[in-house]
Amino acid sequence: MESVKIPTQPAKRRRIGVLTSGGDAPGMNGAVRAVVRMAIHCDCEAYAIFEGYEGLVHGGNMIRQLHWEDVRGWLSRGGTLIGSARSMGFRERAGRMKAAKNMVLRGIDALVVCGGDGSLTGADVFRAEWPGLLSDLIAAGDLSAEQVEPYKVLNIVGLVGSIDNDMSGTDATIGCYSSLTRICDAVDDVFDTAFSHQRGFVIEVMGRHCGWLALMSAISTGADWLFLPEMPPKDGWEDDMCSVITKNRTERGKRRTIVIVAEGAQDRQLNKVSSSKIKDILTDRLGLDTRVTILGHTQRGGAACAYDRWLSTLQGVEAVRAVLEMSPQSPSPVITIRENKIMRTPLMEAVQATKDVTARIENKEFEKAMEMRDAEFKEYYHAYLNTATPEHPKMILPEGKVGLKSPAHGGFTGLRDTDYAQRMRIAIIHVGAPAGGMNQATRAAVAYCLTRGHTPLAIHNGFPGLCRHHDDKPISSVREVSWLEADSWVNEGGSDIGTNRSLPSADMENTAKCFELYKFDALFVVGGFEAFTAVSELRQAREKYNAFKIPLIVLPATISNNVPGTEYSLGSDTCLNTLIVFCDAIRQSASSSRRRVFVIETQGGKSGYIATTAGLAVGAVAVYIPEQGVDIKMLSRDIDFLRDNFIRDKGANRAGKIILRNECASGTYTTQVIADMIKEEAKGRFESRAAVPGHFQQGGKPSPMDRVRALRMAIRCMQHIEGYAGQSRDAIAADPLSSAVIGVKGSQVLFSPMGGKSGLEATETDWTRRRPKSEFWLELQDVVNVLSGRSNPTGNE
Ligand code: ATP
Repeated sequence: MESVKIPTQPAKRRRIGVLTSGGDAPGMNGAVRAVVRMAIHCDCEAYAIFEGYEGLVHGGNMIRQLHWEDVRGWLSRGGTLIGSARSMGFRERAGRMKAAKNMVLRGIDALVVCGGDGSLTGADVFRAEWPGLLSDLIAAGDLSAEQVEPYKVLNIVGLVGSIDNDMSGTDATIGCYSSLTRICDAVDDVFDTAFSHQRGFVIEVMGRHCGWLALMSAISTGADWLFLPEMPPKDGWEDDMCSVITKNRTERGKRRTIVIVAEGAQDRQLNKVSSSKIKDILTDRLGLDTRVTILGHTQRGGAACAYDRWLSTLQGVEAVRAVLEMSPQSPSPVITIRENKIMRTPLMEAVQATKDVTARIENKEFEKAMEMRDAEFKEYYHAYLNTATPEHPKMILPEGKVGLKSPAHGGFTGLRDTDYAQRMRIAIIHVGAPAGGMNQATRAAVAYCLTRGHTPLAIHNGFPGLCRHHDDKPISSVREVSWLEADSWVNEGGSDIGTNRSLPSADMENTAKCFELYKFDALFVVGGFEAFTAVSELRQAREKYNAFKIPLIVLPATISNNVPGTEYSLGSDTCLNTLIVFCDAIRQSASSSRRRVFVIETQGGKSGYIATTAGLAVGAVAVYIPEQGVDIKMLSRDIDFLRDNFIRDKGANRAGKIILRNECASGTYTTQVIADMIKEEAKGRFESRAAVPGHFQQGGKPSPMDRVRALRMAIRCMQHIEGYAGQSRDAIAADPLSSAVIGVKGSQVLFSPMGGKSGLEATETDWTRRRPKSEFWLELQDVVNVLSGRSNPTGNE
């Protein structure tokens, strides 16, 4: 065993241990990297405990200090580089006593544990027992009272690393979106063969107690049927499943059939529903050529997706902050995320809530289990049902009295509520550049409309498409969409109905005429800043044109993520994933020559969001954004920084370094100019290259996150629009929320009004720079800089 210097005085610098435990998950390395670098940044020392709790029990060489350079390149590595194990030893008090002794000997008094609910429970047990363990160690003569004195308090912070997303109290666990990505890639691949041979595929995904992966993959791939542990199908499901699949294949013309099964799927009597049983049912009853694919451990493998990289990074940073801010009395926190907000939640509350869900399932209280999983989970489940089986008899709205003047088209008629025409003609338009998720939002809107009895109308090629004329007669670029057509968009990138940047102001008169001509009751606009501008114009034109006094709702979709009213736009996650693939590959290309800096140009217009979040996800040494600009002093400091960096960089992970530059960061210091300046100033010590991924950033197939969020948000928009059914046009126009943007704001998803004194147009929009006035992500620049070691790039005190 390695000899250890025993600290007898309180360590001046805090020593923070970090371990990964339970099943490995992509992103764990990002968390360890962030903890190590943030700890060092905060003048603490970081210790990795190898092989989970096993390393803590054994001590010696299994607890090692990690330095800044040791974690270089870890963001892009899969699994966990410090190892994970299931430790029987730590389950016993005797093992935990050894662990406590090892920690005191190393002077470690804080532990960041990244694992599932088991690992976090273990951590909490350890903290609760800590004073007793120390007393026993003194009593046994293993440690002296003097040695123990500085370590009376043990701080524990949890990070949830698990591919299952099975922890209550957080929307996502580190690893779950990477795993979902693996699953969706596999199912997308199966699509082609299923389509070619008109086959059925039963695909089994991980999730013994939690159906998150199954549910999200079913949404992302448009599965025909889904089995979750939390919500077993009602008795007689065999008939229901066969009837839905038959309907999809014969009446709707679907050539492929996909059934997704969580490995813990069960029926209402808690009997296992196996993938082979489902296959037999489909083969025997329907004569469907059906294959089973069990995805197994491929779901754990590979590099983390963009979301897991920045989630693990931000949560790792927050874990160190929590360690330093905790008092002896505060309960151990677990770092969580709600929508877009990193939060701290009492660890044992989250663990207990997770256990309660399992208990409810075992008690056959399925509805309750669904509710307790988290609100979002239930919403997604219903959203899946709404879109998977259109024309659902329970969902369909009454037709209303056709021929009677309904309030939607005039004044009050004296009818009862149910007599009003609740079914609406909802137009869907894409405005701006294509972005991942546009098709999926449209698919979800169409399916929801059909389920409820509304008429979904696709407007092809944006506003110019709407107004197209030939010999003074409109050429219809507006048409009803069938479920089958929309369903085929489930995993397609870009915009199938066509998108266009032109605004309605190009021909407002005609636009209004077309609104009347096609009898739009609502307009659902999917797109970026142009979509926002278009709705702003229509809203302002309501004074002149009655046709626009209908709900006008924007669902932001743009890789630039620069739409006021939201912190997240569809397509931005797809773009980030594409960028990290590009950056990883290009960085790898330098691993043999070793001393190369790549200056990579990102899109994003005048918003540095993509550059900054990609910077977090790839571990860029610097990010140049329009919000900060670039000047000669900054470049000079960064070149010095790079020079130092290359001198210190002696480890094995010497792949290239990345600087990200947003396309509008500076008119003078272009990507090529910066690359040339670096090369010149490096004086042969290292070299530099410029790279421009360009439209590659729009991505191919949308990321699963963009797919599932598209579905959820589009359905929320449809429900919001439905709320206006039966209202008079003036009443609609008088409601500020009738022209609104749906968005993620902090921990919530909500609609923000466009107009009015407190509306987005007046308060939150920087019209000149085409971005929100205040950008929530700007502070992430500091995190990029802290984790790259680039201090004070602007030179401002
Ligand atoms: P996964 O989600 O992959 O199952 P997990 O963290 O829940 O991850 P577990 O196998 O339950 O995985 O726990 C990992 C390790 O945590 C165990 O091997 C054990 O060392 C420790 N551990 C779990 N529960 C406890 C407990 N109640 N007391 C002490 N240690 C525990």
